[in-house]
Amino acid sequence: MADIHVEIIRGFEYVLTNERTTSTYKYALLCAIMDYVIENPGELPRNGFHYIPIIYLAKRFLLYYYPTTFPDIIIQWKTRKGARPGTKIQNLIQNYFKMGEQELVTSIRDHIDGGSTLDKGFIKLLTDIRYIILDKPLQYIKATRNEDHPRKFKNYRFKESKFTLFGMITTTLSLPQDYESARKAAMSWSEIKEMTYAELESTEFAYLTIGAYTYRELTKYRYFLRDAIQKYWIDLTEKYAKGNYQKLDRFIYGLRKVEETPTRDSQFIKTFKTKLKDIFDSITCIYCDTPLSTMSKIHIDHFIPWSKLPSNKFWNLFPVCNSCNSSKGSRLLELDFALSEKIRRHILSWINFFQSNTAYWHMFSGGENMEILKNQSLETISEIYIERIKEIMEQFL
Ligand SMILES: [Zn+2]
Repeated sequence: MADIHVEIIRGFEYVLTNERTTSTYKYALLCAIMDYVIENPGELPRNGFHYIPIIYLAKRFLLYYYPTTFPDIIIQWKTRKGARPGTKIQNLIQNYFKMGEQELVTSIRDHIDGGSTLDKGFIKLLTDIRYIILDKPLQYIKATRNEDHPRKFKNYRFKESKFTLFGMITTTLSLPQDYESARKAAMSWSEIKEMTYAELESTEFAYLTIGAYTYRELTKYRYFLRDAIQKYWIDLTEKYAKGNYQKLDRFIYGLRKVEETPTRDSQFIKTFKTKLKDIFDSITCIYCDTPLSTMSKIHIDHFIPWSKLPSNKFWNLFPVCNSCNSSKGSRLLELDFALSEKIRRHILSWINFFQSNTAYWHMFSGGENMEILKNQSLETISEIYIERIKEIMEQFL
C-alpha cells in the first residue's frame, strides 16, 4: 500500500512513453487531469466516482499543449512521418487569434479565467480541442485500464487491484455505457452559441471518471505527480527533439522560474559564419572595418556580451577581427551613430535573407514568431531590432 504512489508514477510514465508520437497530447491531458485534482482536492465522490468534464480538460489542455508545441519553440521535433505534431491544434488556435505568441497565451488565459462571455469562435476552439481529446489522448489513457486497449498496452496492468489510473468516459444521456459508443456520442456534440465558460461547462455531458480510491491517491501526491509528469515529458522531448536542447531547457526552466544559461555552440557559430559569407559580398569587422577575407579571419562577436545576454540571435552577432574581438572582451560598447548604422545594415541584409530562407530564420532568431517578417518593410523590421538592442542595453547602463 505504501508503494501505491510508485504505481501511479509508473502508470503515468507508461501512458507517456508508449506511442511516443503522441506523447505531448498525453502530457497535456495528464497535466490537465492533475490540475483538476489540484483545484478540487476535497471533492466528494458521487456514486464512488469523480467526474471531470471533458470541456474542463479541454481548457487546461489548451494551456499546456499549445505553448509546448509552439512551432518556434520546438522546431526540430518531428514525428516518424516527418510531420510536426500539434500542427492541427496550432492551426486551430492561430485561425482564431491571428496574433503573436505572447498575446496568444495571455488571451487564452483571459478567455478561460475571465468569466466573461466567450465568443463563438472561442467556444468553437474549445469544443474542437474537446473533440481532439475525445479522439486521441483519452483513448491511450483509458487503455491503461485494459479495456479494449490498443495493442501496445496489452501487457500493462496495475499490481494493486483496487487501483485503476483512469476511469471511463461517461455520459448523462441514455446512451450505452461502453466507452466507444459513449465517446462517439460525445464527439458528435456541438453547441456553438455565446456563453460564459461556466455555462459551457454546465452543458457538458462527457466526463472522465476517476474512482474514489484513485482520486484520493492522486490528491495525496498531486504536486509531486504533476512534476513527475513534466519530468517524463521533458525526458521524452529531449530524446526526440534532437538539437534543440537549449530552447527546450530555456522554455521549461522558464516555466519553473529557474535561470538556465545556454552554452555557446561552436557548430552554430560555424553555420552562422558560412551564411554570413553567402549574404555579404565582402565581410569587414563591424568595429574597425578591417576586411575579413577568409573564414578563419572572421570572429563572431556578441554585441551585447554573452555574460549579459546569453543568446545566439542574428541581431546580436557580428563579424569582427581577431584584435577587436580580444580587446572588446565582455564589455558592452556604446552604440554611436556610425556603429548603429553598420548594425542596421547587417540586420537589414539578414532580414532580406530570411524572407526567402525561413529555415534559417528559426535557427538564427532564437525561435521568434515569424509574423514579424510579414507585411512590413525591411527598414521597419530593422528598426524594430535596433530599438530592441537599445532597450536591452539600457538595462545594463
Ligand atoms: Zn576590428
